[in-house]
Amino acid sequence: MNYLITNARAVLTDSTPPVTDIRIRDGLIAELGQNLQAAPDEDIIDATGCVAWPGMVNTHHHLAQSVLKGIPEGLNHGLDDWLASVPYRFWPSITPDLMYYAARLGLYELLRSGATTCADHHYLYHAGSSTEVEDAVWQAADELGIRLVLCRGSATTKGSHRGLQSGLIQPETLGQVIERMDHTRVRYHQTGGNAMRKLVVAPTSLVHSSTPDDLRACADYARANNLKMHSHLLEVEFDEIQAKRKYGMSAIDYAEHCHWLGDDVWYAHLVWCDDYAVKKLAETGTGIAHCPTSNCRLGSGIAPAIAMQEAGINITLGVDGSASAESGSMIQEANMSWLIHRAANKNPAATSAGQMIRWASKNGADLLGLNQTGEIRTGMAADIVLYDIDRPRLSGVHSPLYAPLLCGEPVDVKYSFVQGKPVVSKGVVNHLDEDELVARVKEGVADLLKKVS
Ligand code: ZN
Repeated sequence: MNYLITNARAVLTDSTPPVTDIRIRDGLIAELGQNLQAAPDEDIIDATGCVAWPGMVNTHHHLAQSVLKGIPEGLNHGLDDWLASVPYRFWPSITPDLMYYAARLGLYELLRSGATTCADHHYLYHAGSSTEVEDAVWQAADELGIRLVLCRGSATTKGSHRGLQSGLIQPETLGQVIERMDHTRVRYHQTGGNAMRKLVVAPTSLVHSSTPDDLRACADYARANNLKMHSHLLEVEFDEIQAKRKYGMSAIDYAEHCHWLGDDVWYAHLVWCDDYAVKKLAETGTGIAHCPTSNCRLGSGIAPAIAMQEAGINITLGVDGSASAESGSMIQEANMSWLIHRAANKNPAATSAGQMIRWASKNGADLLGLNQTGEIRTGMAADIVLYDIDRPRLSGVHSPLYAPLLCGEPVDVKYSFVQGKPVVSKGVVNHLDEDELVARVKEGVADLLKKVS
């Protein structure tokens, strides 16, 4: 199906003069302009009262945590205690069925906030894993029509976080990790700048869950197969302390030592980066998934994203898992970024609305190798979101194009397209019954609590 989006109040694009209409043909943005006429095979999408942005690109999530929000035992903990009392406590009891509904819920939250791509750092693998839990994530994304980048987590040691030391989870061997990952690669991974499904090699924690040899083997596998690489790094000071204690070097030097720096690598968090680490990341082209809401919630700190940007690092945004963010909204993340770096830098010009939307869209698309997405430009994939700003709480805004960012949640997505296919229509996320989803999640959570408590 082809579409003509007409009469948008504003469109976020570099095209001049101003654009109100977007023609979508064969999944691509075919034409931008004003007063375009619909061809006989085009459906008209009335964008009156809407602003059009490129769909947002979330570069770090843990969809499994969508059913672990607000766990009382973890509300006031920092990372290490929180890992033990929330995700690692529940992980062994997450069934393929619950994973499927958790993924649907998390992807629903992203879609209704204006995201069109999700990189999910999925780490529910252990020695006795079947493929079913992972398959549930691919299935949920495929059904909802969102782009999925599955970052395949792994642990080959019990590591130094208490969560993994409980004995409930037995790590995989390196051989299992590579063999299972290769099975996924053959089955799901697509190449190209507008792929709907991508696989990323993503040991769960660079410092804590692998040996240096295993990390180098994973890097070799990734580079031999042209896959990108991702992990958690320097979310808390413990990473730096442990790298020095175990390996006699800083965490960033350890990353280099294990062949884990480069323009094919990005890390979530990087809160505890000193000037030396920022310089190393910039020199090697290594990127960041900046997750400010989760960093606030766990009291981890604020990543030096503005200094990183000035050094030339590609800054992208991630919502992180909902067990440490309780949100799953890219608008929340972009709004938080817009605000928090002004406060952190004591400078109202530290962030701009346009830059924050770029962090949340084009930068993320480039980071994930999806460089035919992330911008509203002729020839790009039609990943487009239309925010309805004819709503009471936005009706007084004088900057319509930036209203969803400036005013934050709740936003109203009227339409959203991924590769030219509608994933949200008339304010409703397609291929999903909200009442049914709520019922299934409640049942799943009740079963989970019976198993764990
Ligand atoms: Zn994370």
